[in-house]
Amino acid sequence: MKTKKTEYKASAKAIREKTYKPKTEPTILKCTNKECNYEWEYKGKSPFYATCPRCYRKINIKKQLKK
Ligand SMILES: [Zn+2]
Repeated sequence: MKTKKTEYKASAKAIREKTYKPKTEPTILKCTNKECNYEWEYKGKSPFYATCPRCYRKINIKKQLKK
C-alpha cells in the first residue's frame, strides 16, 4: 500500500510538470519561402499556423517543429 501511494504521487508530479512546462525553449520558426528564409521567434498562440512577419506567408508550425 505504501509503495503504491508513492508511485501515484510520483506520476502525478510527472503529469503536473508536463502540463505546466515552463516556456524556456523559444519556438523558432523559419519561413518556407526560399526567397525569404526569415527566422523568428514565434510568440503567437496558434498551434498550427504562423504568418511570416517579413513576407506574410503561412507557416505550418507543426511541420516545422517535427524534425
Ligand atoms: Zn517569409
